[in-house]
Amino acid sequence: MDTTPRTAPARTLASGPVVIDQVETLLVDLPTIRPHKLSMATMNGQTLMLVRIRCSDGTVGVGEGTTIGGLAYGAESPEGMKLAIDTYFAPLLLGADANRVPALMARLNTAIHDNRFAKCAVETALFDALGHRVGLPVSELLGGRLRDRLPVAWTLASGDTARDIDEAERMLALRRHQVFKLKIGRKSVREDVAHVAAIKQALGDRAAVRVDVNKAWSELEAQQGLAGLVDAGCELAEQPVATADVLARLKGRYPIAIMADESLTGPASAFALARDGGADVFAIKTEQSGGLQAAQQVAAIADAAHIELYGGTMLEGAVGTIASAHAFATFRELQWGTELFGPLLLTEEILAQPLTYADFHLTVPTGPGLGIALDEDRVQHFRRDRPRISVGPAANAVA
Ligand SMILES: [Mg+2]
Repeated sequence: MDTTPRTAPARTLASGPVVIDQVETLLVDLPTIRPHKLSMATMNGQTLMLVRIRCSDGTVGVGEGTTIGGLAYGAESPEGMKLAIDTYFAPLLLGADANRVPALMARLNTAIHDNRFAKCAVETALFDALGHRVGLPVSELLGGRLRDRLPVAWTLASGDTARDIDEAERMLALRRHQVFKLKIGRKSVREDVAHVAAIKQALGDRAAVRVDVNKAWSELEAQQGLAGLVDAGCELAEQPVATADVLARLKGRYPIAIMADESLTGPASAFALARDGGADVFAIKTEQSGGLQAAQQVAAIADAAHIELYGGTMLEGAVGTIASAHAFATFRELQWGTELFGPLLLTEEILAQPLTYADFHLTVPTGPGLGIALDEDRVQHFRRDRPRISVGPAANAVA
């Protein structure tokens, strides 16, 4: 295990300009503990796109981009993010002032349309490096945390009712999760509702049950499904239909919370959803939002519109998960907790010190930056290919 300190001693912002010397990207393929079945894809593994940004003072920041099921969820893939960062992001970053994270993000947002997941990975790496430089956790750089531990729900998505009940019982016994999200939408509405009802009946008051339909229902199917879910004791339905206008028509018709997920693609969509009354709850994902600060903007819009908050996951590995945790720790409200269980779905650990999941919560690290360290040997072991390293003029001259 590599225990070499990966950053220079903390220094102050006033001690001179610090520039970005190197941007490195790599893909890491990790297996999942079981098939993860969603309405649009079945995942047997997860690919992490890791970006590492090295600065002239010796600080290094790491960020992560992931997707759900390759291109099944959205327009970005891990491979595409790597290409975009190597080709288009890196030239805009190299040689730039590493301390000015919002200015760097503004530069990226001006020059690069969309690519929200890749921007989130890069912004995470920039904040991680800045945090190591000044000796503060990312959550403090983002304005300050309001909580040190985040409730974490678990997703039951084996596709088999009995297996899901066994899994939930195990999680309850371990005191790891007491809120369960069921992935439905692959089968008929009737079968899905029966699946949810059976699980809720088995768990009773010991656990809360929610569903994620991942856009799979038509409006009519949603009407039938939501009525059945209410009877089954389900407390929340995530993205039952694809479009925001139908979400708005469904909200308030049944005594069950309607949560927007795929419909939320950053602050502009959050404002439109809030304006049109399309959701009781926002599932905020840092990658979907376009970064940590963008996620905070989405949260502020939700607060202003009296929409409740939930911290979502793009099934990130440890780096992306803890970046999200730092952002969610700063939210004024977090009424529905989080689903930051991504690393627990993977069979392999890539951190020198694993994240702390205990008593139904994830602990937000207190060390500088993200407060985590990669196990470099394991990262190298699971990487898909050799890195492509973009080097700035200054670093090039030294070499
Ligand atoms: Mg979802």
